[in-house]
Amino acid sequence: MKTINHWIGGKPVEGISGRFSPVYNPATGAQEKQLALATVDEVDTAVGAAKAAFESWGQSSLAKRTAVLFKFRELLDAHRDEIAALISAEHGKVHSDALGEVARGMEIVELACGISAQLKGELSTQVSTRVDVASIRQPLGVVVGITPFNFPAMVPMWMFPLAIACGNTFVLKPSEKDPSASYRLAELLAQAGLPDGVFNIVQGDKVAVDRLLEHPDVAAVSFVGSTPIAKYIQLKAVENDKRVQALGGAKNHMLVLPDADLDFAADQAINAAYGSAGERCMAVSVVVAVGDTGDELVGRIAERARNLRIGPGDDPASEMGPLITREHRDKVASYVASAAEQGAEVVVDGTGYTVEDHPECAEGFFLGVSLLDKVPVTADAYQDEIFGPVLCVVRAETYEDAIKLINDSRWGNGTAIFTRDGGAARRFQLEVQAGMVGVNVPIPVPVGYHSFGGWKDSLFGDLHIYGNDGVAFYTQGKVITTRWPDPADGGINLGFPSNS
Ligand code: NAD
Repeated sequence: MKTINHWIGGKPVEGISGRFSPVYNPATGAQEKQLALATVDEVDTAVGAAKAAFESWGQSSLAKRTAVLFKFRELLDAHRDEIAALISAEHGKVHSDALGEVARGMEIVELACGISAQLKGELSTQVSTRVDVASIRQPLGVVVGITPFNFPAMVPMWMFPLAIACGNTFVLKPSEKDPSASYRLAELLAQAGLPDGVFNIVQGDKVAVDRLLEHPDVAAVSFVGSTPIAKYIQLKAVENDKRVQALGGAKNHMLVLPDADLDFAADQAINAAYGSAGERCMAVSVVVAVGDTGDELVGRIAERARNLRIGPGDDPASEMGPLITREHRDKVASYVASAAEQGAEVVVDGTGYTVEDHPECAEGFFLGVSLLDKVPVTADAYQDEIFGPVLCVVRAETYEDAIKLINDSRWGNGTAIFTRDGGAARRFQLEVQAGMVGVNVPIPVPVGYHSFGGWKDSLFGDLHIYGNDGVAFYTQGKVITTRWPDPADGGINLGFPSNS
């Protein structure tokens, strides 16, 4: 069986712990690989390699850093199909979706290629007589990324391109469920000419994460994953004096007003709820139907849901693939049963689904799509992040009721309004408590040059990820006040310096 190892100091490093975790192909249910889980010593080796590389990388010219990133971007482009296939084989998402993930990650690489413009700094001349002030931003040192299973290539690329462009060195701890895509990125970075030790990977579980959070040579931690772990990461990182941004889970609401184009809204609800089997932090998991739209909208969503083609990610006919593990599939299915017991109407029941035409998928982690209507807000299906192909519909009499429902949620990642009324959309943008808002756009993941991040339990820390916030996160400010004295200057004056 293939073992996936660490990547330290620019080369593969075999794991020595003797502890492994299984890597499955979710479409067949078979374990095809195993992942070496790092010890504390192996984490220390990776951080040591990153620290040593920072000596020169932190001093390297912007021209050199961006030359590597431009080359990396070209390699990514040339290998996008291969990376998408790796994602699909371990995560399960369909190939076209995996290609989209690579493209959205590449956006941040392109942003990082232009880092020179972002690091220009600011200069004020003559703030006082013959005194100038410059503000510059400098790298932090060794920074860490801890990433989730659902975007094994894109989420690491939300982090490391900007981090290394800013002059830091990086240690990635990918999800143990689908580590191969980021490992391939490490190889491509080396091929692009990135010096050894600037980008490292430690494979691992809580042992590795805890050591990274405690290690005195780690300056900052970017985390993306579930809310309980995000909260844990934030507290532990702060306790150890590290800068931290920890992005958590979500329950994203899509509000549909009575004047919306219902066919368009139904299409978008399907795409955003069931794409990637609902395993997206920006998935729409609740549709809030306002006024008398409910029956008509639910009917149109149900009609589309029943016709989705579910199958292995490498079959071009599949629109949705399997879930990440058998346990997760069963947990997601349990929400459909509990919702029915707790008062919801099960309009489409995807539990017990089996894939036809693919005998090799009989043991795969497949689940059909489910649509639950009139879900009480007290139901577990409404309260929890299900992270699967289950869409809840909640009815609201008025816009005011709908926005109150959304704002009462403990999460605030993404949200969307579907309407033809510009005034209502404008009001929604200003009133809704969420970090990313779509107007007739169901998954408003910001482009690379705007930052990504939620509010409330969807993000712990101050700065969002990538965009300008990403540059701020991976650098620290320094202000330099300079005087080149004229022979006429000088003299003793013990007063507090003031400008003249
Ligand atoms: P997860 O929280 O289980 O794991 C994320 C990372 O944390 C992994 O690398 C994992 O190894 C590590 N980890 C897990 N348990 C740990 C522990 N007890 N101690 C230390 N480290 C631990 O998340 P996941 O299941 O991989 O990903 C799905 C979750 O990520 C969902 O909740 C989803 O909403 C969220 N997510 C959020 C965003 C966002 O931008 N807000 C983006 C993608 C995914």
